[in-house]
Amino acid sequence: MTQDQIRVKALLRWFATSARDLPWRCTSDPYAIWVSEIMLQQTQVKTVIPYWERWMKRFPGVEVLAATPMNDVLKLWEGLGYYSRARQLHKAAQIIAAEHAGVFPRDFNAVLALPGIGRYTAGAICSIAFNQPTPILDGNVIRVLTRVHGVGKSPKDKETNRHLWQLAGALVSIAGSCRTPARKVCSDFNQALMELGALVCTPRNPDCGKCPLRRNCHAHLNGRQHELPNLGPRPSVTLQRFAAFVIECDGHFLVRQRPDGVHNAQLWEFPNIEVTNPLTEREGGSTNTRSSKLDLLSGLSKECLGQSVRHLESFCTIKHTITRYRITIEVFRGELPRRCSMPGGAKWLRLVEMEKLPFPSAHRRILVRLHHGEHGMIEPKTGAN
Ligand code: SF4
Repeated sequence: MTQDQIRVKALLRWFATSARDLPWRCTSDPYAIWVSEIMLQQTQVKTVIPYWERWMKRFPGVEVLAATPMNDVLKLWEGLGYYSRARQLHKAAQIIAAEHAGVFPRDFNAVLALPGIGRYTAGAICSIAFNQPTPILDGNVIRVLTRVHGVGKSPKDKETNRHLWQLAGALVSIAGSCRTPARKVCSDFNQALMELGALVCTPRNPDCGKCPLRRNCHAHLNGRQHELPNLGPRPSVTLQRFAAFVIECDGHFLVRQRPDGVHNAQLWEFPNIEVTNPLTEREGGSTNTRSSKLDLLSGLSKECLGQSVRHLESFCTIKHTITRYRITIEVFRGELPRRCSMPGGAKWLRLVEMEKLPFPSAHRRILVRLHHGEHGMIEPKTGAN
């Protein structure tokens, strides 16, 4: 037996006894697997589970999803972040309904042609749902393969990336040729690779003692676990600061929908504007006098809303992290005497009406505070936007 054949067998044996019991592992429905794969991009398993379960209940198949208005789709995705994933799922469902008679395609290239589906996701769907020997290469798999095979160059390097795809392809092909007809070996093998990267071959402290590949792993045998994969320096942290305005008139609040083509497109938010310096005294220890601070806020509100709002009061501060961005939103509350029209399609809505709309999670947290009448600092939240 070759080294790779030994690795494949060891990994399949390990997966048979160590796989987590995840809801999307109880089905071979390509639609359900596709939804899980898209949700799992950049998002932890424990966060995805309730979203996936809600989604499958509300949109049990392609046709239902394709016929649902985008607003409802985004509402169900609310809080999961990276909303372009939901938009692409919806778009792809409409294509499957229109061009594939509502049946999820089995052909790898047809799957790859759908919006929002790259080589990894197409490989995952075709292997997991249809047991095809299509390779996968995501962060977890890259970590396992670079360590096992001692690949020292950056996985972002074009040649190295091609080499890693070849390694993943060779392994799943070996799995596909295993004589275990009763089992879906390509499906199991690819999931086993991902599972090993998630549970055992972790970024910081890989648990080599429990790893089924330890006897055939370059990094373990040479003490190079912490050098591999060679990901280069981490991107530096970027600080961003916004002023947001909660403007009320006669029980209605001013909110706006983000336009197409921008980050968080079609989601709703409180009007806001990027600023360079802290605006509240507590945050920045500012020496501004109260009146000059009010002037500054009034000027910002004019820039953001098209008219200035006097007597704005600090409402809360939200700290938020999305990938390398550390975002602070200082929220100010004020009133206008009339529900005048505002630029950019902003609307005056009651709280109950806003509940039906999708908001990115930072603005959803402002809304929750508004409901409860709470002021003050809102603890940092990492991940979803
Ligand atoms: S032996 Fe260690 S480094 Fe190698 S694949 Fe297993 S967990 Fe990763």
